[in-house]
Amino acid sequence: MDANFETTAQCPWCWETIDLTLDPSAGEQTYVEDCSVCCRPIVVHVTWPGDEPVLTLRREGDEQWADG
Ligand SMILES: [Zn+2]
Repeated sequence: MDANFETTAQCPWCWETIDLTLDPSAGEQTYVEDCSVCCRPIVVHVTWPGDEPVLTLRREGDEQWADG
């Protein structure tokens, strides 16, 4: 049925492109993922307005959401 959705995003710490694997069946979620490049914690917020996920990434500990 649901396969994991693989996508890429930009680390808000080092701005490298990192690979993320999402679970579409989990719906909207927020979790912390360590950057595979710089190993710093990224707060990943995922929504599914359609078939494609919309990701918002910010540095853990920051109050403001990083845009872009
Ligand atoms: Zn990084």
